[in-house]
Amino acid sequence: MVRTRETGGFMKCPFCCYEELKVTDSRDAPEMNAIRRRRECLACQRRFTTFETVELTIQVKKRDGNYEDFQQQKLIKGLEAACLHTTVSREQVFAVAAEITGDVLQRQVGEISTKELGEMVMKRLEALDSIAYIRFACVYRRFKDIGELMDAIQSMQPVGNC
Ligand SMILES: [Zn+2]
Repeated sequence: MVRTRETGGFMKCPFCCYEELKVTDSRDAPEMNAIRRRRECLACQRRFTTFETVELTIQVKKRDGNYEDFQQQKLIKGLEAACLHTTVSREQVFAVAAEITGDVLQRQVGEISTKELGEMVMKRLEALDSIAYIRFACVYRRFKDIGELMDAIQSMQPVGNC
């Protein structure tokens, strides 16, 4: 990843190493929680694109006790799987992922368990779509039996009248 002036470092032209660049276009890349910038070198006039993303230092503690880096992309994949063929749009998936990532980064401790992460996702999905919620809950809670699953369904807020 290229460091930029905005994030405290500096960037050189990849072609001639000149340090003065102008930004010609700046766009959000929501699927990566990133900003895409089109840049032009003031010396050689060549253009290139950079992605600026947040560097995540949060560790996720898995059920088996191992750790892995928190990855928003993985969160998005899980959300997309749960929300497939539901009323939840891609935009909502990205919004939920960005919100959760924000919450995770706010934490004082540098780790979060998959269980806590799952609860954060479920809280949001519950408000959005019941099918997506149940799908996600099934994976994350690994229900021991059908009774637990039924309890979860019954404790949900009714959605609509149908
Ligand atoms: Zn250049």
